Amino acid sequence: MALKEKMQKAINDQINAELFSSYLYKSMASWLESQNLPGMANWMNIQAKEEMDHAMKFYDYVIERGGRVIFQAIEAPQSSWDSPLEVFKATLDHEVYISRRIDDLMDMAWEEKDHATRIMLNWFVEEQVEEEDNASVNVSKLDMLKDSKRGMYMLDKEFAARVYTPPVVE
Ligand code: MG
Repeated sequence: MALKEKMQKAINDQINAELFSSYLYKSMASWLESQNLPGMANWMNIQAKEEMDHAMKFYDYVIERGGRVIFQAIEAPQSSWDSPLEVFKATLDHEVYISRRIDDLMDMAWEEKDHATRIMLNWFVEEQVEEEDNASVNVSKLDMLKDSKRGMYMLDKEFAARVYTPPVVE
């Protein structure tokens, strides 16, 4: 059963949103590098890779359903922030926004009785719970440091330890 036009359009829009997420996190990484926080930049670069994986997961799904992916212009992301804390708060806000978008897609899949899309979206619903949790843990950590330079140095080292795990091919 071919993917309906309406659903295809909505998933194409979501591919753009995931690519924007990747672009935004790359921009945050660049700003963190400028603040001499390479560990936090590493964390953001890995986050950016994961967002690209999300976009590709939607891409593969559209192709699998015999649909067509149309790439759209990616909006320019913000390029500077007031503090590392503000960066991680912005990440949390952005993930909450993405979760809302995934929920809207899920609502559409139900309305359209598109059960294949609904099941595909389950993965994203679960992923967003994790993304919001990670983002809010990071905000708490940054919040604890206040203006401690020593704390910032230690936390940067912790963030440097994050490694990228490629997605599992199903
Ligand atoms: Mg994502």
